Amino acid sequence: MPNLKDLPLQQIARSFQQMFAQDGATAMQYGGGQGLETLREQITDIMSLEGIHASAANVTITAGSQHALDLVTQLFVNPGNPILVEAPSYVGALSVFHSYQCDVHHVLMDQEGLIPEALDEAATQLERAGRPAKFLYTVPNFHNPGGMTLSEKRRPQIVEICQRHHLLILEDNPYGLLGFDGHLYPAMQPLNPDGVIYLGSFSKMFAPGFRIGWALAPDQITQKLVVANETAILTPSMAAEMSISKYLQDFDWYGQVDKFRVMYRGRARATLEALKKYLPDCTWTHPVGGFYTWVHFPAGINTNAMLTRAVQNLVAYVSGTAFYADGRGSDYLRIAYCYPPEEQIREGIRRLALTVEQEKALLANGEVAHGDTAAKSA
Ligand code: PMP
Repeated sequence: MPNLKDLPLQQIARSFQQMFAQDGATAMQYGGGQGLETLREQITDIMSLEGIHASAANVTITAGSQHALDLVTQLFVNPGNPILVEAPSYVGALSVFHSYQCDVHHVLMDQEGLIPEALDEAATQLERAGRPAKFLYTVPNFHNPGGMTLSEKRRPQIVEICQRHHLLILEDNPYGLLGFDGHLYPAMQPLNPDGVIYLGSFSKMFAPGFRIGWALAPDQITQKLVVANETAILTPSMAAEMSISKYLQDFDWYGQVDKFRVMYRGRARATLEALKKYLPDCTWTHPVGGFYTWVHFPAGINTNAMLTRAVQNLVAYVSGTAFYADGRGSDYLRIAYCYPPEEQIREGIRRLALTVEQEKALLANGEVAHGDTAAKSA
């Protein structure tokens, strides 16, 4: 969960009250299937920060970017069709891909994000098998769960490889404005506007409660997305769209993003320091923005099996297996440092280390049957 403690709620309440008093009848009405035009215009301004020059006509507003992921998958994939995703990949996207029965193929990442050669190889193999992938799903900035960021050098390479393989890119970027030093990474969309669907969201740069995200897509795809949106929800919530539009208009929203950024930077630092202190045998990624670090455990530890014991010790995490479609990942876990304050983070990682010690002791005594524990915690 993003941490919302720094939002100026009293001022926001006053601004929204004024909006409802003036335009309440419109805010409580049905809207259009593509979403409120004023908000779509504001969204194009936000995207221009990452080098995207788009028209509001190519933006479709959705119920969070999660909904956009669902619509795009529904449009492009029939059961059994292959798609390419990162290894690891966002659990919510994997749930969507699972529900549409996609044949998910993972492509390796390293500290610099998706590995171009691995992508080329995976796309080639599927083509040779006569089953080209329908799209590549990627989270280039401050990855969930990986914490890594696609290097600027690799961005044009990834776009070129996808163009060569006629592979659509689904560029999912909910965290892009949350770089700890304020650096904005260039989006891939401008490098091939006809071959990229870019997803954005207000969930992390403002608040998730309104459930407003968007998809920027080429003309023909936008037409289909709008129909799919209407089929699913008729129209995005006008009350939510008008509230967010008012927030963007009345508040220093970018200054607010700066506050979030500084808060998350402190939490990330506390996390990495505590990992170094309490879990020196592990390795982890060094996020430069966003909410997550991805921790690797030495041989023997199964993070799935260990979860029950961790919860008994009052600390929780998401086991690495949630981020793969093929059962991999039990030697990894995701730490989300965004919500708890720094002292709780330190205490949480101390409890995690205690859990690991207990697990190791039981393993050494042959007392843990991992299959059993995993079954209980599933
Ligand atoms: N994509 C990624 C990578 C995410 O981490 C999330 C939320 N955790 C989403 C999409 C969905 O966000 P929302 O629906 O709130 O916009």
